Formats: sequence, C-alpha cells, structure tokens
Amino acid sequence: MDCIKCGKPLEYDEVAIYKRLISRAATEFECKACLAATLGVTVEDIDRKIDFFRRHGCTLFN
Ligand SMILES: [Zn+2]
Repeated sequence: MDCIKCGKPLEYDEVAIYKRLISRAATEFECKACLAATLGVTVEDIDRKIDFFRRHGCTLFN
C-alpha cells in the first residue's frame, strides 16, 4: 500500500496512526510526512503519538 499523496510505500505504523488520528474506517492512507502536513504538526509529533498509543496498548498497533 502506498501513500495517497506522495506514493511512498507505507509502514505498518503509518497505516495504524492514520487510522487512529483520522478514521478507523479509512481504506487509503498517508505516510507520516504527509499526515503531519495534513494535521499541521511535525513528523516528530507523529512519532510521539505512535509511541504513546503503542505504550497505551492501542489495538491498532499490535
Ligand atoms: Zn506521503
């Protein structure tokens, strides 16, 4: 699966954080860089959110 904005191959975490932040029903996804731009945050913010959700046992990150 590739990012719908830039075409970069997506990592599992990128799909998971997109579902967590945008929509669990999403079928198309953005990579971390594009998602950060969409949300007006930095890639580091996205990484921190991924860490946060993983530490808190979010099932999307299992
Ligand atoms: Zn992208």
